[in-house]
Amino acid sequence: MLKWGLRILGVFVLLNVLGAIGAYVMIDRSVFEMFGGRTPVIALQPSDETPERYVLANVRVLEPDSEQFSEPMDVVIENGVIADMGPDMVERAAAPVMEGEGRYLMPGLTDSHVHLWNSQNDLALYLAYGVTQVREMHGQPHHLEWRDQITQGELLGPDLFVVAAQIATYDFAEGLWQSLTSKRNVARTPEAADQMVRDLAASGYDAVKASSYLSHSGYEAVSAASADVGIPLVGHVPVAARLDDLWASNQREVAHVEELIKGLDRDFGGYGVSTSGEYLDYVMEHRDAVAQSMIDNEIVLASTLALVSSFAQQKVDTEGALETAPVNLVNPGVAEGRAMGWLPDVNIYSVPQQYRNEGWRDRYQTYWTTYAQAQQLMFEAVLAAGVPMVAGTDANVPLMAPGYSMHQELEALVYAGMTPAEALESATGTPGRFMDWNTGRVLPGFRANLVLLNANPLEDIRNISSIEAVVMHGEVLSRDELDALLDAVVAANDSARNTPLDPAWGQASGL
Ligand SMILES: [Zn+2]
Repeated sequence: MLKWGLRILGVFVLLNVLGAIGAYVMIDRSVFEMFGGRTPVIALQPSDETPERYVLANVRVLEPDSEQFSEPMDVVIENGVIADMGPDMVERAAAPVMEGEGRYLMPGLTDSHVHLWNSQNDLALYLAYGVTQVREMHGQPHHLEWRDQITQGELLGPDLFVVAAQIATYDFAEGLWQSLTSKRNVARTPEAADQMVRDLAASGYDAVKASSYLSHSGYEAVSAASADVGIPLVGHVPVAARLDDLWASNQREVAHVEELIKGLDRDFGGYGVSTSGEYLDYVMEHRDAVAQSMIDNEIVLASTLALVSSFAQQKVDTEGALETAPVNLVNPGVAEGRAMGWLPDVNIYSVPQQYRNEGWRDRYQTYWTTYAQAQQLMFEAVLAAGVPMVAGTDANVPLMAPGYSMHQELEALVYAGMTPAEALESATGTPGRFMDWNTGRVLPGFRANLVLLNANPLEDIRNISSIEAVVMHGEVLSRDELDALLDAVVAANDSARNTPLDPAWGQASGL
């Protein structure tokens, strides 16, 4: 009898273990797909058609303060680096010549806030839109591999600065779920958070990121460990922290202008529809002090203005917002999945049905319009104070398409008050300095990661779309080659789509 009892128990335990393994595999598979892993990966082979040494002749060069383009000159590129530049270099250089015909040469753009997830094809989208460096803000081990392959010339894509996925503190069950589904780095205690920073630094990440869901003691532990190890701490200001904790921390970058107004909102006590006017007054009163603290503590600010400005419409009118979004570019696993969904039934920002009661539209509209106004007020203060800013899009979050959204962000920055020169700086020189990379300038010794434009973006920032060619590690990608990359990504997306594209939704085609 006992023997049988043990056997039944054994089978029961075995079935449970198998069930758990099965559930794990299924969840892991669907998470992989929701973050873009279902779409076929296009060929991303760097070509070596461009000579090792050549002259890009007769181009106007964006000067190091981004204030103006030079008179036409020649730029010598050798082994992926700008070797020399000046007038009349063609004869002296004794190298093949590529005629620039008086076009505008500027550093390739940096998107300082992206999420590649499992969507390797995004690398092609970035290049097609002139983005030659990106800062990955949810880094996982495969991103470190992509980064190294790109550096070694084995994979075609922008240079990657990989920030490890955000460090968060949760209880046991929530922690298990989050590390499985959102792939956050979950630490349960301050000691574990400290160890996690050390482990991530040892794994080769370029920075570590604070989550909104980091406890106060966890935040202090992460801050102290990052200072001790010498790895930059970037990201959110945890909900459990105040702006005063940010000033006391080792954090070097704040991932959104939005984080500062959320911090002020915590000090205010949490605004609502009826107190939105008071809250905006409160922001007005405190914004200059916040900006000054950013400067005193040498903290860089990432923008993500276009995303936050889109919230009000996405919340109450997802269909309308999709009409102007380039839905064909985004990985269909991302757009259709529940994790970061774009489409009407799964859009992560769209107000859920159960909250759509009497007067809901006006309430949400008011709340999120206030939110965008607060962002604008804060942006004006940090801009006036001279806080160093880097342009970032939060690409792949709805409705920010990789690459394409960088042009939207530059427009948003100018709309919000930057000069075109300031907007270009935030996408070139400033992120180059923050990453401590030799990018973001057209000067000898800097990487030949460049964009050649047909029209001057200082006259109209929208001219950033007039891309004639992109130079990546010295290799020239012509407009035809960039369009071929775009077409390949769209074809791969189409082959993996479960929901057909609605003709009412926006689509992007070649530039
Ligand atoms: Zn993000």
